[in-house]
Amino acid sequence: MALGLPSFDEATERRFDEWREARLRDALVWPIGAGAISLLTFVIWDLVLDPSRFWLVMPIRLAASASILWCAWSISHRPAMPLLPMAMVAVTAGTGCVGLTQYLLADGFLYGPAGLAIFPTVSAICVTRARLVPLVNLPSALLVGGLLWADGQTGFPLFNTISFFATGIFAAYVLAHALERTARYGFRLELQLEAEARLDPLTGIANRRRLEEQGEQEVARARRFRRPLSMLLLDLDHFKSVNDRYGHAIGDHVLRAVARLVGNNLRQTDLFARLGGEEFVALLPETDLETAQSLAEQLRHLLSFTPLRHEGAEIEVTASIGVAAYCPELASVAAILRAADEALYAAKAGGRNQVVVVRRAEAG
Ligand code: GH3
Ligand code: MG
Ligand code: MG
Repeated sequence: MALGLPSFDEATERRFDEWREARLRDALVWPIGAGAISLLTFVIWDLVLDPSRFWLVMPIRLAASASILWCAWSISHRPAMPLLPMAMVAVTAGTGCVGLTQYLLADGFLYGPAGLAIFPTVSAICVTRARLVPLVNLPSALLVGGLLWADGQTGFPLFNTISFFATGIFAAYVLAHALERTARYGFRLELQLEAEARLDPLTGIANRRRLEEQGEQEVARARRFRRPLSMLLLDLDHFKSVNDRYGHAIGDHVLRAVARLVGNNLRQTDLFARLGGEEFVALLPETDLETAQSLAEQLRHLLSFTPLRHEGAEIEVTASIGVAAYCPELASVAAILRAADEALYAAKAGGRNQVVVVRRAEAG
C-alpha cells in the first residue's frame, strides 16, 4: 500500500472500496452541489474582468453547473452508476469551465490561474483512494493543456497557470491520502467490532450469533449438495456446584479450559460455539450421525478423564452431549438445535456424563 497506509488482504480491499464508496456517495451530494453553485457565482468575476464577452461565457458556466448538479444527483440517486466516472465528469466540468472562461475572456489566464487549482483540490474528497487523484484530473489536465496551447501561452504566464493547476492536484493527493488513512482506520475498527460481535468474550470461541449465521450457510450447503451435517450440544454436568465449591472465577477458568480442550479436538472446518452459560455447540460439516456420535463419545471421555488443574486444585468435570444431524425434517440450525437439546435432556435424565443421539428415519 502506498506511503504507509494500513492495508488489508485482497478480498478485504474490495470490501473497503465498496464501504468507502457507499460513504462517499452519502457525503458528496452537498459538496458537489455547492461546487456547481460557486461556479455560477463567478459570473461577477467574468463581468468585472471582461464585460464585452460576459454573454459568451455565461452559457458555459450554466452548462458546467448543470452537469455538476446532474453528477451530484446521479451519485446520490443512481447507485448503479459507478462513482469514479461521475467524479471525473464533475471535476472535468468544473475545471473545463474555469479553463474555457479564462481562454475566452481577455487576460483570463493572466488573472485567473488560482481558479484552476480549485476543482483539482476538491477532487480529493471524490475518490475512494488517493492514487485515483491523478486519474480523476487527467481529462482536466488534457483540456487545460489544450487551451493553453491554443491560446499560445508561453513563458511566465504558462508557468504560472501550470503551477497553480499542478499545486491543486498535489494538494488533492495529500488531502486524499489523509482522508484515506482515516477511512482505513475506521474500516479496520468496523471489521474488528463486526468480528467481536460474533465472539464469546469469555472463551474467545464463536458465539450464538455466529453459530446462527454460519450454521444456516452450512445447512444450505448440506441441502444443496446432499452432504451430511451433524451437531453436538454439550452441557457441563452440575456446573453450578463447581461455582459453588471453587468460586465463579475458577468456574470461568474451567469454561475456558473446556473450550480449549474440546476445540483442540475438532477439525478446522467444524464450528465450535458457546451458546451461553456452560453450554457449547459443535457443528460438524461432512460428518454423519455415526461419526458425530463417536466423536461425542471421545469428547465425553476426554473431559471425564482430564481433570482441570487450577492453583493446585484438581477440578473434575463431565459433560452430557446431545447429538442430532441435518435431515429434511431438521432443515435449519434452530430445528437441529432443538432436536439436539431434546437428546441432551434425555442424557441428563439418564444420569448425565453420557451421549444421546436423535435418530430419524432420514437422518444422516
Ligand atoms: P446440569 O447437570 O443439570 O446441567 O446442572 P448445572 O448445574 O450444570 O446446570 P444449571 O443450569 O442448573 O446451572 C448452570 C450453572 O452454570 C449456573 C451458573 O452458575 C453457571 N454459569 C453460567 N454461566 C457462567 C459463567 O459465565 N461463568 C461461570 N463461572 N459460571 C456460569
Ligand atoms: Mg449444566
Ligand atoms: Mg446448562
